[in-house]
Amino acid sequence: MKDSYAQIVNSSVGKKVAGALGLPQPVELRRYAPGQDLLNDRKVLVVGGQSADGLAETLLDWNLEVRRHPESRTRYGAIIADFTDAATPADLQNGALAVGAALRSLGTCGRVIVLGRSTDHEDDESSPELVATQKAVEGFMRSLAHEMRKGSTCNLLKLAPELGPEHESVQGPLKFLLSARSAYISGQPLSVDPAKPHTVEADAPVDGKVAVVTGAARGIGEAIVRRLHDDGAELILVDVPAAGEALSKVANSVNGVALQLDITQKDAGSKIAETARKHFGHLDIVIHNAGITRDKMLANMDENKWGSVLAVNLASQLAMNRQLLDSGALGPNPRVVSLASTSGIAGNRGQTNYGASKAGIIGMVSAMAVDFAQAGGTVNAVAPGFIETEMTKAMPTVTREVARRLNSLQQGGKPEDVAQAVGFLASNAAAGINGQTLRVCGQSMVGA
Ligand code: NAD
Repeated sequence: MKDSYAQIVNSSVGKKVAGALGLPQPVELRRYAPGQDLLNDRKVLVVGGQSADGLAETLLDWNLEVRRHPESRTRYGAIIADFTDAATPADLQNGALAVGAALRSLGTCGRVIVLGRSTDHEDDESSPELVATQKAVEGFMRSLAHEMRKGSTCNLLKLAPELGPEHESVQGPLKFLLSARSAYISGQPLSVDPAKPHTVEADAPVDGKVAVVTGAARGIGEAIVRRLHDDGAELILVDVPAAGEALSKVANSVNGVALQLDITQKDAGSKIAETARKHFGHLDIVIHNAGITRDKMLANMDENKWGSVLAVNLASQLAMNRQLLDSGALGPNPRVVSLASTSGIAGNRGQTNYGASKAGIIGMVSAMAVDFAQAGGTVNAVAPGFIETEMTKAMPTVTREVARRLNSLQQGGKPEDVAQAVGFLASNAAAGINGQTLRVCGQSMVGA
């Protein structure tokens, strides 16, 4: 959908007027195109950390130029701030202020990547000082993300205690967050554990994998299908029989298999497993995208509106995951990605049913992480914020305009932005990420 406001304020007159009035000035985000450079500007400033040399080697491999000290009149494509060694509050100051000093030299659609530690491992006996310091790193990142300008983003990778920034498991997430694939992700933490098999390739991250996408006939589901196809996957596309015609169209365009199926059917998971076996022998990737809204204030909620939303958005996924795990059809490193929503994090007026179902998804991926790890895989969720789709096009104009601007990037995301995050979590580049929910919301002011 067209963002007319953004077009006006990006014209030469509009820029001046918006600047003078202090109005939001969304920048057109740099989005992924095959073969493009990883960053707009090749120079990367690496701040702090003792293992920066290993990290520098990785960055050089990615055709980036590494700087350890700020230089005058240099424009950086990214700043990487390594706080993995920070153990006391006093350890934060130098790194934080060094990032601050370099911020004005960050180019358009630049990246700040903060590296920290996760401190919540079961056998971990982290001191209160360490836990507090690393939580402070997260708070620093979230606030800095609100200060980013010109389409730039800031995110945090929390590394497991045994991982250095140069470790292979970290490279996939680092490359994703540096790249244009993460254009609409800002202010988000992601924990990374050591895992295999990890890969970091950018252009065909799911090459040869077999994927199923539910709700594939339109919207975000269709964008996910196209992303996974372009990234090398074979596809099974699921949608309700009523959407059969649209489903076939999308399926034909990617040479995929169309499966007309209501995911609330008791044996939906087994039917998907059967279809995968018949056409491809097995299944590697499951994308639970199908979802519905039936908004009503709770005082006016009826059984049907509550029941259908919980059945489609949550109960079906719990049942399908169980059936798929039991089916024996999953390949050796299965990847499951579910669509949650920022409404499941912050709640939303008129959406008690939808908010409950999407919060349930966040609980489900966290609880099933162990089951999928035992099967050699991962299960994660993506929580979109305001995305330009048919659904948001139907919102009243003023509500839509407010929702669109209430995030650090001051614009709505595109289905492609959600699809990129799903594609990343479905790939072996994200092998070290399990049980987590990644928000794709431009750091929406809604929710933490
Ligand atoms: P959409 O309504 O455009 O598409 C959903 C698809 O799911 C449709 O093709 C529909 O036929 C299918 N579907 C519905 N019930 C089904 C069932 N029982 N069995 C099989 N297929 C079924 O929605 P969208 O905007 O593309 O959203 C996709 C997902 O992203 C949903 O889970 C939604 O909750 C989530 N989401 C969307 C936004 C947004 O801004 N659009 C924001 C947050 C989360």
